[in-house]
Amino acid sequence: MNREERRSAEVNSVRAYRERGLPASFDFPEMFAHTRMLMRLLGRTPDKVRLLRATQAYHAGFERSLRAHPSQKPVACQAGCSLCCHNWISVTIPEVLLIAGELQVRTDDALARKVAEASNAGRGLDRDQRLERRLACPLLADHLCSIYAVRPLACRSFFSLSLAACQAVFDGTDEDVPTPRDAMVLRGVHDRCFWAGLRASGLGHEAVELNHALDIALSHEGAVAAWLEGLDPFASTTGDVPHDAEELLFLDVLIAGARERKLPENPWVT
Ligand code: SF4
Repeated sequence: MNREERRSAEVNSVRAYRERGLPASFDFPEMFAHTRMLMRLLGRTPDKVRLLRATQAYHAGFERSLRAHPSQKPVACQAGCSLCCHNWISVTIPEVLLIAGELQVRTDDALARKVAEASNAGRGLDRDQRLERRLACPLLADHLCSIYAVRPLACRSFFSLSLAACQAVFDGTDEDVPTPRDAMVLRGVHDRCFWAGLRASGLGHEAVELNHALDIALSHEGAVAAWLEGLDPFASTTGDVPHDAEELLFLDVLIAGARERKLPENPWVT
């Protein structure tokens, strides 16, 4: 592709993204363009403003894609149902910092204490143990999310097709909840573009458990600056499954594609 063709392809992909978000499939040209956009927002040496703006773009991008791919089956979720808010919530550090910023603006000491208590109650528990104890997210208030506008992608992307299945998981009598396929695929697509953007900027992209990381962000002044400088105030956080070699290769493919460089050898795209 020559320079003119590349420019035209980029304009078309930005236009398509604005109209309908990303496809609910692992479409590499679209993912390259989206990763490039996130990398531009982050910049080479991201500061707090850039980081939070890119995180909001990650969330907004997912919402846009989701609107273009509504569930083909009726969704059981309704305001006031909070069964899924008694679970392990996987988040990236920038999402934690976005929520912490929102809570700091509110200066709500009681909520900060609630986060600390939830963090202590869940410390050392794995997903199953956490579910068994039905630990509520400390950000729940009257069965509604109190930080709805800045809730993490894990929460934005979870939809249930069966209230009975959610109840069974909550009660510990079953393990699976049927979910709309496209929402799950779109989560995977948007997660990877964002993780690649963070990786390209030299930032951590592994997921951590929400309560523990949020407690650290709220109780350590300067956590954002320290994390951006490469220090790791979140080192003790309860981590999620680390990204394996295949995942890292996938992110490197996205980064190379976004930079229009030669792609590393990989099994997915040439
Ligand atoms: S952040 Fe909000 S939506 Fe997510 S688990 Fe907590 S209360 Fe529920």
